[in-house]
Amino acid sequence: MPDAMKTGSSTTEDALRARINAAASIGLDEYMDAANTAYYATGDAIGAAGDFITAPEISQCFGELIGLWAAVTWQSLGAPASFNLVEFGPGRGTLMADALRAAVHVPGFHAAARIHLIERSAGLMERQRQALAPYSVQWHGDINDLPRGPMIVIANEFLDALPIRQFEYTADGWSERRIALDDGGFFTWALRPADVRVPGYVATTPGAIYEDSPAVAAATSALAARIAGDGGAALLIDYGYCGGESGDTLQAVHKHRTAQVLTAPGAHDLTAHVDFAAVARTAEEAGARVFGPLEQGIWLRRLGIDVRAERLMRDKPEAARNAIITGVRRLTDARAMGSLFKVMALAAPSLPALEGFDPAPAPKDMP
Ligand code: SAH
Repeated sequence: MPDAMKTGSSTTEDALRARINAAASIGLDEYMDAANTAYYATGDAIGAAGDFITAPEISQCFGELIGLWAAVTWQSLGAPASFNLVEFGPGRGTLMADALRAAVHVPGFHAAARIHLIERSAGLMERQRQALAPYSVQWHGDINDLPRGPMIVIANEFLDALPIRQFEYTADGWSERRIALDDGGFFTWALRPADVRVPGYVATTPGAIYEDSPAVAAATSALAARIAGDGGAALLIDYGYCGGESGDTLQAVHKHRTAQVLTAPGAHDLTAHVDFAAVARTAEEAGARVFGPLEQGIWLRRLGIDVRAERLMRDKPEAARNAIITGVRRLTDARAMGSLFKVMALAAPSLPALEGFDPAPAPKDMP
């Protein structure tokens, strides 16, 4: 077998091999960042024909309710004449298109919204441009590039795509799980002793895994600080856990099936569950109020997804009615996405209430 077939030979793999050869091993975060950058570049990943499907691609009700949520949030900000309507990792642009269509009848909302998308994939930007053709849209690579001013931010399945690091408890204490090359040139795990601060609830039995995402922390911190300073709110929706849990949640997905994390980086999606307790701590430290997390099914029902579905089904043929019901069930059922997916909001301290959430207590360090 030629070497290239044995070990894979994409540009991403070659670049990762060169980095590992220079340093003996690299962190999982470095590997994941390179793999996902290559993976998302083409823009073919999301949807029934791609590798994985997301809530806005399952039911239009999802984006529509988020659009109405954004409009109500804008009104509670005092309906500013201009604000940034921001989406992180907008995928195919479906959520934003559904949201804007639903909010079109809210007087003044469209005129006030400056649409900004945070995206790094050229392929997905092109899809977003097509989905949002009627609107004026600006793209940025990073939250710090956004213009100042009040903002309403939406991020669905964005944080799970950001790189993580993993640590394993061994007889000698905590070690970082890094990526090296074996004798055959294949990617393999390598442990390196690490000085890491691990929360008290994490088990210290040999083999226990703790995950940490500096990228999620940096994004959350920048977002929360901007919202606390400029006003506004952010809606973060993702699969994850609320604290007190830990373990290996890293997964590779290709064509709706599990794939190998260390094989063919860039050919499949690498994601990890979001630690919402860590996100909440980081956001509060940066001065934001935290709402939730709530289970997605509960939040969507509070916003009236069942009523919206009934409306959509009116006068539709049976097949279309069934498709609407199936989509809504997939989003809300505890056995499907309703429970694993969580909804959390961050808000400026001046916003005491947000639609669909219980009132948030003031952050501990706020006056
Ligand atoms: N929100 C969409 C897509 C989720 S997939 C949906 O629900 O369908 C993840 C999205 O985040 C993609 O658009 C991907 O290109 C983008 N993304 C991943 N990592 C990113 C990063 N570091 N910076 C900006 N965008 C990123």
